Amino acid sequence: MANEEIKRVWIEEGCISCDLCMEICPEVFLVEPSMDCVVKPDAHQHFRSKDEDIRQACDDCPVEVIKHAAE
Ligand code: SF4
Repeated sequence: MANEEIKRVWIEEGCISCDLCMEICPEVFLVEPSMDCVVKPDAHQHFRSKDEDIRQACDDCPVEVIKHAAE
C-alpha cells in the first residue's frame, strides 16, 4: 500500500550523487562529495514527520535507487 507508514529507507546501487534527495530531505539523506548517497544513521526518527519528502525524493531520484518499505 502506497501510504503505509515508512519503516525502512535504503539506497540501492547506482546512485549518481546528484544531491537531489538531500535537497528535498536533508534530515534523511546525505550525499558527501564524491560519495554515493547514504541514509543518515538517525534518519528513522524523521520517517514519520518527513514521510512526504521521503516519497518525493524516491519519486524524483533520476536513477530510482531510493527504496522504502513499511516493514
Ligand atoms: S536522488 Fe538518487 S541519484 Fe541523486 S543523490 Fe539521491 S539517491 Fe543518488
